[in-house]
Amino acid sequence: MQEKRPSVTVLGLGAMGTALARALVATGYPTTVWNRSPAKAAALADNGAAVANTAAEAVAANRLVIVCLLDHQSVVDVLGTATLSGRVVVNLTNGTPAQGRELAEWTKNRDADFLDGGIMAIPPMIAGPGAFLFYSGSRSAFDTYQPVLESFGESLYVGTDPGLAALYDIALLSGMYGMFMGAAHAFALITSEGVSGQTFAPLLTRWLTAMTGAVASTAEQVDKGDYTLGVSSTIGMQAAAYPNLVSAAEDQGVSPELLMPLQKVLDERVADGYGGDAIGGIIEILRKAGR
Ligand code: NDP
Repeated sequence: MQEKRPSVTVLGLGAMGTALARALVATGYPTTVWNRSPAKAAALADNGAAVANTAAEAVAANRLVIVCLLDHQSVVDVLGTATLSGRVVVNLTNGTPAQGRELAEWTKNRDADFLDGGIMAIPPMIAGPGAFLFYSGSRSAFDTYQPVLESFGESLYVGTDPGLAALYDIALLSGMYGMFMGAAHAFALITSEGVSGQTFAPLLTRWLTAMTGAVASTAEQVDKGDYTLGVSSTIGMQAAAYPNLVSAAEDQGVSPELLMPLQKVLDERVADGYGGDAIGGIIEILRKAGR
């Protein structure tokens, strides 16, 4: 006999909440949805989801409550209208580690179990092979509901500290925004002479892909605290060439504002006497400045 599938509540039907709810319905989990603007629930109702009139009603319907709203404050505002006792709240709203820890405490005070999550996917990727999500907080909640959570993508539990999922999430997003900044600057520069974006794109992809090897080598250096390991391009050489990037941008009428912060950090690392190390050594400047 087939085991009964747990039923699930989803609060929030923006682009991401809708994708999550659709994945649950498609996988066969009985799903109750709620959204502040009721019109967004119509398509899901047509697909078989139950629609609650209020967040409190949606939370009352099921033990497992998945929340995907705009920000931390909206989560507190919406959950604050409901009775959470006995519920398992899985928060998939983007937030900071501190907010994840705060929500864990807040839900605990309301007699609910809590998992915080970070979604490493955009809505069309949900339920596809590339999607993965971080979870942290209640281990038993994760173990109980992992099969449900797998509807969204690969679920990676990163620890009982409820702040950890957001930490992993924000760390990956920080890497991504570095790439977005670099790519935006590169496109602004190359198109300043009329080279088309589409001509340039394969070259940019090829170069960025080749450079991802630096992630693994930096990992070894940072773990061993030795930024001389395997160095082939010293930070001194890079600090010497870097002003060319800034000057070329200015000459082409492109603002170097996204490039400038790195110049300062490179120069400081060289001034500290580490010009022969690999560029990963700038991690030490970031640590020093953050303390
Ligand atoms: P949307 O802007 O599409 O949706 C926001 C949702 O929050 C809507 O359901 C909106 O309701 C609701 N909302 C906002 N403010 C309030 C409030 N004060 N009270 C009640 N409900 C409120 O965002 P997404 O769905 O794209 O994103 C949701 C979360 O998922 C965010 O934290 C985002 O960072 C995260 N995320 C999104 C990704 C993406 O690519 N889209 C990728 C990874 C994470 P209403 O419809 O009534 O406005």
